[in-house]
Amino acid sequence: MTGPGKPYVRKVPSGRDGMWASAGPPLARLDIELTERCNNDCVHCSVNLPAGDAAARAREWPAASWKGLLGEAAELGCLVVRLTGGEPLVREDFEEIYLHARRLGMRVMLFTNATLVTERLARLFRDVPPLEAVEVSVYGMAAETYEAVTRAPGSFAAFRRGLGLLGDQGVPFVVKGAVLPSTRREMDELEAWSARITGSPARPSSAMLFDLRSRRDGAKNPLIAGLRIGGDEFVRIARRHGEAAVDEWRDFCARSGGPRGDRLFTCLASGGSASVDPYGRLQYCLGLRHPDTVTDLAAGSLREAVTGFLPRVRAMRSTNPAYLERCGRCFLKGLCEQCPAKSWAEYGTLDTPVEYFCGVAHAQAIAAGLLEPGEKAWAVVDGKERVERVERRRGS
Ligand code: SF4
Ligand code: SF4
Repeated sequence: MTGPGKPYVRKVPSGRDGMWASAGPPLARLDIELTERCNNDCVHCSVNLPAGDAAARAREWPAASWKGLLGEAAELGCLVVRLTGGEPLVREDFEEIYLHARRLGMRVMLFTNATLVTERLARLFRDVPPLEAVEVSVYGMAAETYEAVTRAPGSFAAFRRGLGLLGDQGVPFVVKGAVLPSTRREMDELEAWSARITGSPARPSSAMLFDLRSRRDGAKNPLIAGLRIGGDEFVRIARRHGEAAVDEWRDFCARSGGPRGDRLFTCLASGGSASVDPYGRLQYCLGLRHPDTVTDLAAGSLREAVTGFLPRVRAMRSTNPAYLERCGRCFLKGLCEQCPAKSWAEYGTLDTPVEYFCGVAHAQAIAAGLLEPGEKAWAVVDGKERVERVERRRGS
């Protein structure tokens, strides 16, 4: 919907949309948001409720339901499950759910802040490895900067302790940063520290473009928006280690295929993944909670949702003129974060061009030599040829 009561999305039968045909299993990966609750209260977080939120906790699916769902997912060919939140470790039954996934032979991607890792849990990960590196979010290199983000006294010490326990048991993990006012000065330190503790020279990824709250529960969004950096700053940070990132942006554009046209979903093009929220509602992806793209698993099986509902969502088309005239014709698709989930979080629609991400993509394209300052990407009629020209020039 774009504006009150005005439908701007056309639904078409998925059978007419051959691009979604997939040779793989119906479900290769399942993302599970085990809880909205978290023991931190990060300034930029787009999900969290307080860890002790009794109402949220009472609505969460119990372990038995998750185990049933994991069994259904395994039957659909699912090999990887991502457990995230909120903070998944606030759930007292985390171990039970984790072990069930591993018994089914699934690899487990765990996204955590590590503050609640106990000796017992670290040993469990040693003995029954997740088979994917645990992904630990790091909000600062010192208590002062870390807790300026998490707003939870004592969280820095708890995080260092949790990470130490994983390290002591030889559990593989990677760390991920977030570029926030209090952590911006620490990026070099984070990278050097990450190399030391993980033994890998690979630089940690750092979140820079923060999403608004996808539940559209409003009050915190101005705070999140105020933490966002502009396109020029984004480019400056990406260039800290040379031009590799900019070369990559050009490659994205070269490989991304033509403009979107009226397609809404150009991500996950092969299908094969789905997300479930803490209350058993299946979503196209973790951040997309538009009612037309969510189905309650209490009313039907995972198989029906994955093989019937999701293909119908993937086949949805836009009829919104603003989208068709801009994103529909834009050659920066491979660079830009624009997608139905972002549009939903920002505007409550599936297809409104998100000005923030549009500005960042334009700054990237200017840095990559694909646009002149002031030029609009959607007005470029020979985008593909332009990318090829610039690539050739750089290669010569
Ligand atoms: S630790 Fe993660 S889930 Fe918890 S508040 Fe921070 S960003 Fe949100
Ligand atoms: S750069 Fe702007 S017009 Fe192009 S896809 Fe992104 S939001 Fe749409």
